[in-house]
Amino acid sequence: MTRLAWGSATDVGRVRQENEDAVFTSERLFVVADGMGGHRGGQVASGLATKTLERDFGQDVRSRSTDALVRAVQRANEVVVSAATDDPELTGMGTTLCAMALVDGDGDERLAIVNVGDSRAYLLKSGDLEQITDDHSLVATLERQGRLTRDEAAVHPQRNILTRALGIDARVMVDSWEVRPVPGDRYVLCSDGLFNEVDESRIAATLRRLADPTEAARELVRLANEGGGRDNISLVVVDVVADESDPPVGTEAEGAADPASGDRVIAAVSGEARATGHVPGAQPVKPAVSPRERRKRERAAQRAVARANRPPHFTWRVLLFIVVLIAIVGATVAAITYYARDTYFVGFDHDQVVIYRGHPGGVLWIKPELVERSGLTRRTIPAASVPEIEAGKVEPTRDDAHKYLTNLADQATEQGTGSATTSTTTPGR
Ligand code: MG
Repeated sequence: MTRLAWGSATDVGRVRQENEDAVFTSERLFVVADGMGGHRGGQVASGLATKTLERDFGQDVRSRSTDALVRAVQRANEVVVSAATDDPELTGMGTTLCAMALVDGDGDERLAIVNVGDSRAYLLKSGDLEQITDDHSLVATLERQGRLTRDEAAVHPQRNILTRALGIDARVMVDSWEVRPVPGDRYVLCSDGLFNEVDESRIAATLRRLADPTEAARELVRLANEGGGRDNISLVVVDVVADESDPPVGTEAEGAADPASGDRVIAAVSGEARATGHVPGAQPVKPAVSPRERRKRERAAQRAVARANRPPHFTWRVLLFIVVLIAIVGATVAAITYYARDTYFVGFDHDQVVIYRGHPGGVLWIKPELVERSGLTRRTIPAASVPEIEAGKVEPTRDDAHKYLTNLADQATEQGTGSATTSTTTPGR
């Protein structure tokens, strides 16, 4: 037979105005929920979740299985989603939930542990503290991928971003474990207000030092407040106690501390319970989901996160696209350059008659290039030719342009307006 002893505490902390955490304890069910969202949404969400678990699992003597506990959590999710849908003031509310229950498994008694969100279950075994649950948070995902260390995750500014919570979607995936209850083992369920303020070595030392679960819970709340108390702090400490003498049932727990009862209140309850069953030797924690299925889910989640975070992938298709793009741009530039420099025209450089290579006025960024000067000027050529040369007399080749100049010089000589020379020079060459 298994006998449990427990104590719990919840506190608003030193910064928040309201306590949005909820705690529930009974002789075989222990729950911590950390609500969030809206003016009063957090309190409502965590309260609804714990009450649904109490009703669906806690009061039904037939529901002594891990599956029943998981179903109760899924039911709690539906209740929170439904409440948020019905009341606009509660839109966006949600809650974490971490619970432990005494259940039947294969003829033995087991402890079932379920988790959604970043509240945690720890096991203190032979003096060592081990986190049982996986946090469903962004930083925990990055930590599992090896992209953050545990110390970095503990102080990361986005450590409050959850990847799973009750109240967000109509369906929720619930992590679950079954543990053999071993006398001397001590379990802790807690909200992040504890482990964000008190490091795990100090939590472990406190749990080793204080044998009474209520005292240990109260002392951990005090330490979290001493560390800053920036969030609500809630925890349940559950001891597996050896019981050979079949004593009477212990004190009934008073249930959840009322989170709305006031500021800075440490609400603590304690009690004992016993149940029939065999107490086996030490057993490792084992997941209720098969290890294969669990690894499959983890790999799928990791692949999804990796896909979302992957930098742009440089494939041969991207390379081919860039090469083709460069070729098209290069060919276009070459064609424009060829066209722009394909012809010649006779024009003025100041008053001097010259030959340019290119089109009058230029093409895009390519300006005409002066290639030859002549001895002719605006005053020495026939007046009738001036407008044509001002506009740029286009000739297909340089020879043709040169012939035009010779012809112009001849006309000038006939009219006696200037020198007959067409001696030309090529500037800058
Ligand atoms: Mg919190």
